[in-house]
Amino acid sequence: MIRVRFAPSPTGHLHVGGARTAIFNWLFAKHHGGTFIIRVEDTDQARSTLESEAMVLDDLRWLGLMWDEGPDIGGPHAPYRQSERVERYGEVARELIARGIAYRCYCTEEELEAKRKVAEAESRPPHYDLTCWINRRDDDSIPHAVRFHVPDDGDVTIDDAIRGEVTWKRESLGDFILVRSDGLPTYNFSVVVDDHDMEVTNVIRAEEHLTNTHRQVLIYRAMEWAIPQFAHVSLILGQDRTKLSKRHGATSVSAYAEAGFLAEAMVNYLTLLGWSAPDGRDVFDRDYAIANFALDRVNSAPAVFDPQKFEWLNGQYIHSMSAAELRPLVVNAIGFDAPWLEEAIDVVKTSVHLLPQFKEMIRFVTDYTPPEIDREFAVAVANDLREHGAPLDADAVKAMNDRLKQATGRKGKELFMPLRLMLTGMDHGPELVRAIPLLERASESDSRVLSPLARAERCIR
Ligand code: GLU
Repeated sequence: MIRVRFAPSPTGHLHVGGARTAIFNWLFAKHHGGTFIIRVEDTDQARSTLESEAMVLDDLRWLGLMWDEGPDIGGPHAPYRQSERVERYGEVARELIARGIAYRCYCTEEELEAKRKVAEAESRPPHYDLTCWINRRDDDSIPHAVRFHVPDDGDVTIDDAIRGEVTWKRESLGDFILVRSDGLPTYNFSVVVDDHDMEVTNVIRAEEHLTNTHRQVLIYRAMEWAIPQFAHVSLILGQDRTKLSKRHGATSVSAYAEAGFLAEAMVNYLTLLGWSAPDGRDVFDRDYAIANFALDRVNSAPAVFDPQKFEWLNGQYIHSMSAAELRPLVVNAIGFDAPWLEEAIDVVKTSVHLLPQFKEMIRFVTDYTPPEIDREFAVAVANDLREHGAPLDADAVKAMNDRLKQATGRKGKELFMPLRLMLTGMDHGPELVRAIPLLERASESDSRVLSPLARAERCIR
């Protein structure tokens, strides 16, 4: 049974990189019929907040990545918040001390700093000098940290599902802290205890944690616990090939949601940051991604975040949705509803990439200022509309065009441009065969909307 976890540190909104890690874990779990766990890594008390945890969970819900076990819903290995598991870390630390692998370290911060300086001056690696290992004591009355003693056979090789074989030499590590003197665990310690206790089979996480894996594997070995399969997902870069950050623009999921991106498009786009479909397609729904997701198709090279491609992809989703599906999202993005909104969405959606753009695209329905128009032409249009009138469907608009051609002697642009300007108030926009019927129907259901005839009449001056 596959069990994976996404382990956010609740120190702000969910970011694009975290979301991508969550998506890969979720896809992997779904593909294997496994379990997706959320574990909150909140032992950094100064930076972690419950508000931030709630925001991260909201962002995950918005993306549609539902979890099977987590801090809000519990599960067989609750609690799922590290701050509530501190006792358990103490228990494992005592076990490691009893096994002769970990020890109490009484060195103060000042002493450690001095030792580091000496090591630096002598061009030695800044490893702990083993004072408290050599003089092991079990006095709990004095403040102390718990340190892990790196064994002589401390070389580690893992077979990373994305990066292949990775090896670390024992010499690259000094004895490291498991529990700080304030009783709180270090990341490397709590993550191992939790991944073991929660029976995590596959650890899929950001590349920045690759180097931590050396320490973590040593802890698994010391406890004689099964080591999960690791998969370290590469960085996301901005277009200038530096690590994606605020300098590149929005990086949080909620900022993209507010800018009018759809959750489906976001999941699709972030999945493409590292993974590629077996048939190379760029646009796919979650069912396709679940059916085809595999870690061996995840690229070990960094992925480049391309805002233009993301926006294009979002447009693909908008274009493929029905007006009825889009309506609630558009209402939310533009801040109003109207009886004609669905038809308007249908008329303009192919020119929209982001939900808020609907506002500008349908403005011609509600806002109208009569433009300067040749009087004779305006009279001809008004007369035609008055005589032939409703219902104005696409065929009626075509027939009107033909009559106006006859009556005014204009054709092509000479005809369409002033007609568009007269009836929509704008020099660009959707095709008139669609815009004019929309205006006619909207004016029937909404008194704020001027009919094509009313517009034409206002142009006669
Ligand atoms: N809490 C860590 C982070 O947010 C994740 C650690 C892990 O996945 O092992 O980067």
